[in-house]
Amino acid sequence: MTRKYIDCREYPSEMHCTVSISADNDDELLEAAVQHAVSVHQHQDTPELRQQLRQLFKEESTSMEMPMGGRSAADMEAQRNRPT
Ligand SMILES: [Zn+2]
Repeated sequence: MTRKYIDCREYPSEMHCTVSISADNDDELLEAAVQHAVSVHQHQDTPELRQQLRQLFKEESTSMEMPMGGRSAADMEAQRNRPT
């Protein structure tokens, strides 16, 4: 499943807000983003605001790569036993 997220740093504001919000679907994300915009940025909850926020939605890429340092135990073992 692709998660959606919105990064407040990309929303033009003078607060230099660095919050990012993510959710599994557009509607959840939009609700959370609207609440954030209203409570933190004092925006009005209008169709225009919602439209604007939707344009900032991004898809979180789900990569299959191992996280950093995710080498297998066998690899570590092989390295340890290798003569230097
Ligand atoms: Zn914000």
